[in-house]
Formats: sequence, structure tokens, C-alpha cells
Amino acid sequence: MSAARTLSAPLPPGATIGILGGGQLGRMLALAAARLGLKAHIYSDETESCAFLVASETTRAHYDDGEALAAFASGCDVVTFEFENVPEATVQRLASHVAVAPNARSLAIAQDRYLEKSFVAGLGIATAEFRDVQSGSDARAAFKALGSPAILKTRKLGYDGKGQKLVRSEGEAEAAFAAFGVSCILEQLVDFTFESSVVAARGRDGTFAAYDPPKNEHEHHILRRSTVPAPLSKQMRDEAVAIARRIAEALDYVGVLGVELFVGKDGRIAVNEIAPRVHNSGHWTIEACVVSQFEQHIRAVAGWPLGDPDRHSDAVMENIIGAEVEQWQALSHEKAGLHIYGKRFARPGRKMGHITRLFPLST
Ligand code: AMP
Repeated sequence: MSAARTLSAPLPPGATIGILGGGQLGRMLALAAARLGLKAHIYSDETESCAFLVASETTRAHYDDGEALAAFASGCDVVTFEFENVPEATVQRLASHVAVAPNARSLAIAQDRYLEKSFVAGLGIATAEFRDVQSGSDARAAFKALGSPAILKTRKLGYDGKGQKLVRSEGEAEAAFAAFGVSCILEQLVDFTFESSVVAARGRDGTFAAYDPPKNEHEHHILRRSTVPAPLSKQMRDEAVAIARRIAEALDYVGVLGVELFVGKDGRIAVNEIAPRVHNSGHWTIEACVVSQFEQHIRAVAGWPLGDPDRHSDAVMENIIGAEVEQWQALSHEKAGLHIYGKRFARPGRKMGHITRLFPLST
């Protein structure tokens, strides 16, 4: 395999950013690129990708289609991705033709919960206690070691609570493993006060810029609301940001990443997972910061200087989920930033849009 390409100079306006994935994150990246005079070429295997609607160019093909990938690479000045389940082989393949950011290693680590937790723990950062589970007897032994309750998760392809099962006995752990039928990880249940996240960027020159960590509230495993400021002391905020920075530096990361955190009852911060992409808990930055997470990601991958991540307002971002989007008229009357992603079908649990309210800066 040839060496990964890199950018030798910042991309000028008019250049093309290739984005693997066609969901709302790709859509908002494409919109941010357009504002900077850059073009977005969206590559997705779905016919109805909501990012297609706002991109300069689109490719609809499978992620293992060599011909389509080669044509895509030749038409892009840099390639990035908007979801972490892009096959690593796709990114490796593209990286020998065109600069890709974040790098394939970051993607591979974030795709596998066991590699991810081992990597984070290896940096001396707290996580839930965890064990690799490859068999029914592993499941029983892991449960015995970690205690009750615990969560069995598939190592790969889980999101928004999919591929997870709360277990309260060795038998339940074994049965959950048998039902998933793939490699898993067993985690101790963390008794957290609330969830938070650091959305941060690392530039090609190693500069680092973090947004204020919000408080994140979930419903049915889906993010409902992110609020800034979170009830975190300055020391805890600094610690959260330092954790994200250590992770980004260890990965030699370029772009925006989300680091999901548990804030424990004892004030301890533990990492839940790393998202190697822009993150739902950073959507409020569109209204509350001069440079949003989406622009920040485009700046980073295009080799531009990072923007200022400081917020000028307090903010509450709420997701619009499933049929809630049918209330768009009511939502559009609010004094708030309304974003509707243009997805045709409002399936239950599907993220259809979001809304951000601003408040005067408090801290
Ligand atoms: P994940 O897919 O790992 O991000 O998990 C989705 C959600 O499940 C998290 O945002 C938490 O609310 C909850 N969760 C996941 N793992 C744990 C854990 N070890 N302890 C407590 N809650 C968890």
C-alpha cells in the first residue's frame, strides 16, 4: 500500500472537499464549505441522502466500489467523512490517492469499542471498567469480574443505543452475547450525574481548539438536548478539554472530534466514546459561536487556521426527532435557529432537524 497523501498547502476557495456519508452531518459540512467558497462532493451509498440536496457534486455508490472511489478521489482535493461506520478499507484505499482527514487509524480505533476503550485507558484516562467478550464463557467471566449491572455492547456498528443490552446476571450476559452473535465488550454501568462531551478540533499544524463542553440529555438513547454552559467547575471543564486534547494528539488527529463523557457523582470524568467527526452535541455552535463545528472541521481538513471556539451566548440545542418535524410551522415561529434536514421519511427515532435557542452569556 502506498503512503497516505497529505496536503502541502491550504486549499484555496474553489477547491473540492469530498465527504463520505450523506446524512445531516454531511449536509451541514457541505453548507459550511459553501460559505467558505469551497465545494463539497458527497459520496453516499444511500439513494436519498439529505446531503445530496446541498452539494456541488454527488456520487451514489457502494463504499467498496473501486471505480467509483477512484473517480471520487480524482475529483477531490481532500476527503473527509461524516459517520464512523465508513469501512476502514475505503478510507485506506482513498488515502493512497488523495489526502484524507481524519486519518484511517483514528477511524479504526473509534469503530471498535474494545480498541477505543483500550486506547483511551492506555493514555491514563478513566473509562468504565470493561472486558472483551468473544464467547459465552467470556460473557459470564466478564460479568463476574465487573459485577451487576453491566452493559453488553457489540464491539462494532453500534450507535444511539443500538447493539446494547443491560444485563444483571451471568446468564443474562451469556444470553445477550448469543443474541448479538458478534464480538462484544462488557462494560460496568457508570453511575453518572450527567453526560457531557468535548467537541474540539485539531488543525494540520497541531493547533487545538475546543468548544465549551455541554450537558447532554438523552431520551431512548438518542440525544434530546445539549445545554451550554454545563454545571461544570472551571477545573472540570479544563480537565474535560485536556482529555480531548490528549486523545487528539495521540491519534495525530486532523479535524473535529467528539469525546463523549460521563460526569460521575464523585466529580470524576470518564470517557464513554470517541466520535471521529462533527458531533450532534456541537450543533449549538452554529448559532452561539462565530465559527461553528462544521466550519471548524472544513478549516482543519482544508489546512486553514482554526477559528475561535469561544461562544458569545448561552445556548440550548434540541433535536427534532421523528414525527416532531411535522410541527415545523410552530417551530419556525420561535425566536431560534431552526434546522430541518430535508429527509423525506420521518421514521420514529430518526433525527429530522434541530433547533437552537440563545440566551445572554452567563459564564
Ligand atoms: P453509546 O452508544 O456507548 O454512546 O451509549 C449510548 C448511551 O447509553 C450513553 O450516552 C449513555 O447514556 C448510556 N451508556 C452507555 N454506556 C454506559 C455505561 N458504561 N454506563 C452508563 N451508561 C452508559
